[in-house]
Amino acid sequence: MPDPLPQRLDIAVAGGSIAGLCAGTALLSAGLDVHVFERSAERLSSRGAGIVVQPELLDLLNAVGAPPLATTRCGSRRMFDAPTGGVETTRMPQRFTSWEAIYAALRSAFPDDRYHLGCELALASRSGDGVELVIGSDRVDADLLVAADGIGSGFRSGLAPGTVTRYAGYIAWRGVVDESQLHPDLVDDFDDTFSFCRPVGGGHALCYLIPGDGPAVAPGRRRLNWVWYIPVGDDATRDALLTDRSGKRRQVSVPQGEIGDVARRFLLARTDLLAAPFATLVRATPDPFIQSIVDVAPCGMVFGRVCLVGDAAFVVRPHTAASAAKAAADAMALAQTLRGGNGDFDSRLLEWERQQVAVGRRLVDYGVMLGERTHRQPTHS
Ligand SMILES: Cc1cc2nc3c(=O)[nH]c(=O)nc-3n(C[C@H](O)[C@H](O)[C@H](O)COP(=O)(O)OP(=O)(O)OC[C@H]3O[C@@H](n4cnc5c(N)ncnc54)[C@H](O)[C@@H]3O)c2cc1C
Repeated sequence: MPDPLPQRLDIAVAGGSIAGLCAGTALLSAGLDVHVFERSAERLSSRGAGIVVQPELLDLLNAVGAPPLATTRCGSRRMFDAPTGGVETTRMPQRFTSWEAIYAALRSAFPDDRYHLGCELALASRSGDGVELVIGSDRVDADLLVAADGIGSGFRSGLAPGTVTRYAGYIAWRGVVDESQLHPDLVDDFDDTFSFCRPVGGGHALCYLIPGDGPAVAPGRRRLNWVWYIPVGDDATRDALLTDRSGKRRQVSVPQGEIGDVARRFLLARTDLLAAPFATLVRATPDPFIQSIVDVAPCGMVFGRVCLVGDAAFVVRPHTAASAAKAAADAMALAQTLRGGNGDFDSRLLEWERQQVAVGRRLVDYGVMLGERTHRQPTHS
């Protein structure tokens, strides 16, 4: 931390990824004094897997004065049916982006002197009008802690200990490949479409093009982003797949560059089940990664002067294409609530909770419903 922090903060945000930056930018734009603390010592980075663009995120980026989001577009949806070899195309425009592009846009809209890397926040105590936080060797008071510490949220575990992380019964394999590394005919198969595949034996896969590095959205510089949902019923297989190449059992996902040989062999042994373009794409992916699909629905989002946002609150299935949009919606609503309105600070927070819990529960249920159809027909993400 280059500059000493004030002894009392108005609002501290724990977690500097998408939800933390959505909260930081939205609260700052509402005129509130906010600092974001990210545990990672280095700027967060990833090659940026795909995210379907939703209006809530664009609204937030617009409201906080972020630079334009790098996006790709398609004009249609295409279904490759592996068992019959059929291909069906329907017109349906859609926009896509990447995690990296969203992070870059949000990060450039939030001042450096309020974004603190290498700072893990812990809660020392809570009182009626604030929290005492531990940041390294410092203790800092704040009026409000916004916990945006992600899917494995330590704040959620501490404040809502009964919350269950429920495995949905299937794992998503994901991959991102530079289009320049692929045969042009294969890129053509996927260009300008949101492509789905019904593999032999069920499940489903999808693919769309996303921006490459920086704002690279021109043909030749984009990336192909694919996801393949594969049912994995037994615990022993799931444990083996989630064990990374160093032998560590990951909780929910294994990032790029870290999957173990068992997971790689499991994937490659099944590619014949896919329609030909998907099979070629999966085989050509140098660094696939995996995400176990889970549902998380805590009992609440406000615990005195701590509120949970983004994946630290509800975790919804990727089929909803709503995780980043939900983080943005949580943040915009919180900023609106704290800027003013009826009632005192705490009753406004509770009103925010009532609204956002309803949104979170609805999205969890929607994801479960889409997941139940997953092995029969295509879904959104
Ligand atoms: C590097 C990275 C790459 C990702 N890439 C993709 C992707 O390509 N596609 C996709 O769909 N989703 C991706 N995600 C997940 C995606 O960001 C989330 O599902 C969604 O956007 C909501 O994010 P979140 O901010 O709630 O949680 P997360 O993105 O999980 O962020 C939580 C953050 O909190 C930090 N943190 C945890 N505990 C503390 C603490 N005590 N104090 C301070 N900081 C703490 C973590 O280091 C992390 O940066 C990625 C996440 C990360 C961190």
